[in-house]
Amino acid sequence: CALATSIEVVIAGRIVMEAHRAGQTIDDLLELSRIELGEEPVRDLVDLVDVVHDGVARAHQLAELKSIVIESFDIPDGARVTGDRRQLVSALGNLVENAVKYSEPGSSVQVRVRVQPPWVELMVADHGVGIPAADHTRIFERFYRVDKGRGRETGGTGLGLSIVRHVATNHRGDVQVSSAEGEGSTFVLRLPLATSPQPRRQVEQRSRI
Ligand code: ATP
Ligand code: MG
Repeated sequence: CALATSIEVVIAGRIVMEAHRAGQTIDDLLELSRIELGEEPVRDLVDLVDVVHDGVARAHQLAELKSIVIESFDIPDGARVTGDRRQLVSALGNLVENAVKYSEPGSSVQVRVRVQPPWVELMVADHGVGIPAADHTRIFERFYRVDKGRGRETGGTGLGLSIVRHVATNHRGDVQVSSAEGEGSTFVLRLPLATSPQPRRQVEQRSRI
């Protein structure tokens, strides 16, 4: 009958969600241990266009499910850093994922890149639940979650922001938050701008200005 079917669908959905959640926890733990083991640091020239593309893709599915628009703005020329692309994608992905997770359906999330020599800043802003001032430093601790009750609805282990902070430190940068409860949050990941010589195409563009 129809009732039994709909209960089965709800249970099936729940099983899929829990499995996904367990999978994500394992992924996060692996990422964190990889970072903490301090494998030989990767020092590639990484274009932030790629980091934003892949980081935003990580939150795409949840955003679609909640009808949340992720707006990413034009990325300025020369926004490159020296480091580990996979780590950088993981850091930005975690910030965008949080922005989507802790926002109401139908809202929007903004991703911006700003070059401010000698830094480049990756900014993720949302208009979600916000974070109480007392928790602004603690949220970067491993397994720390603002409200345990929130956790059951949104899933998560409290590892995301500790990964972001590790990645920032590994790249000689930092991560800052500004947030007000009920208004939203902005996270800024600040990294040293790559100092390597610019590709020819960009040098030519510059000299025309
Ligand atoms: P995980 O990322 O491991 O899946 P998580 O999202 O709970 O789980 P973190 O990303 O480390 O863990 O975030 C820690 C806590 O900080 C969250 O539980 C949440 O309470 C709060 N938080 C993080 N980002 C935001 C945000 N954009 N808006 C509101 N609260 C946030
Ligand atoms: Mg998170």
